[in-house]
Amino acid sequence: MVVIDGKKVAAEIRKKISAEVDKMILRGERRPHLAAVLVGDNPASQTYVRNKVRACDECGFSSTVVRMKADVSEDELLEKITELNANPEVDGYIVQLPLPPQICEQRVIEAIDYRKDVDGFHPMNVGRMSIGLPGIKPATPQGILMLLERYGVETQGKHCVVIGRSNIVGRPVATLLVQKALPGNCTVTICHSATSNLKEITRLADILIVAIGVPHFVTADMVKDGAVIIDVGISRVEDGDAPRGYSLAGDVDFENVKEKCSHITPVPGGVGPMTIASLMTNLLKLRQMNDNQK
Ligand code: NAD
Repeated sequence: MVVIDGKKVAAEIRKKISAEVDKMILRGERRPHLAAVLVGDNPASQTYVRNKVRACDECGFSSTVVRMKADVSEDELLEKITELNANPEVDGYIVQLPLPPQICEQRVIEAIDYRKDVDGFHPMNVGRMSIGLPGIKPATPQGILMLLERYGVETQGKHCVVIGRSNIVGRPVATLLVQKALPGNCTVTICHSATSNLKEITRLADILIVAIGVPHFVTADMVKDGAVIIDVGISRVEDGDAPRGYSLAGDVDFENVKEKCSHITPVPGGVGPMTIASLMTNLLKLRQMNDNQK
């Protein structure tokens, strides 16, 4: 059984990006620049943004965090988005989700210029991905594919079961793995909260991708011998022994499932670091795509 080391693969990707940026600087070009809009003080969002800023530093990117109060109006946020769209010094930006209830997330996502949409959530990028055109792919699904490739996991003709149908993980990872490409060429089944015979389906999976946000939901009896397990879930669970009073848990019962599978991603240290490395990959790609169009 192989424990897939997302932390190590992510570090390799950042190193490659940093070498590319060094070349850009030698050519006298401006450093790629990522902006992050952080609304309110959700602790998990603050950690995610902090980690993204740190990854930017390691890649040689510059970064800016735009902080807005939790009670900001949708109009004020949309104004900020218009500014970022127009700012030629910003190559790409994220609006960290979730947003407070007074703001419509979809309206915000659609206001982002798709040529600066480093998260790959804009309908233009989603649509292009769906029909196999080049563009920006959502960070977590792309990071998962990078891991499968790096670990030599064969996907062609395999049955991939995805649990979760969110717009940011479940659906797009299914879209990418069903594509006529490699990694891809899988037969894909998507399961969700209304699936009635879940265990029967997950037991058929050669590759099982779990993105639901329910700690330790997937147990050993739900997994076929020799399957590849990709655990996307990250939940904070109370833990009196941990310094912060909580620890991170995945959607998979790692200790028991690892005995049955061929490959498994741990939480933390599996998909999480790849999401950020994939975001960095997207920023460099946006910069190159936009430079080519000048
Ligand atoms: P979401 O809440 O938007 O969607 C959850 C999905 O799980 C839904 O489609 C729902 O139908 C399905 N689901 C819920 N309970 C289920 C059940 N009992 N049986 C079957 N399906 C069920 O979630 P999301 O945004 O896709 O995130 C899922 C998890 O992945 C969360 O823990 C999140 O924190 C984590 N996440 C991690 C990364 C990363 O980089 N590692 C990135 C994004 C999300």
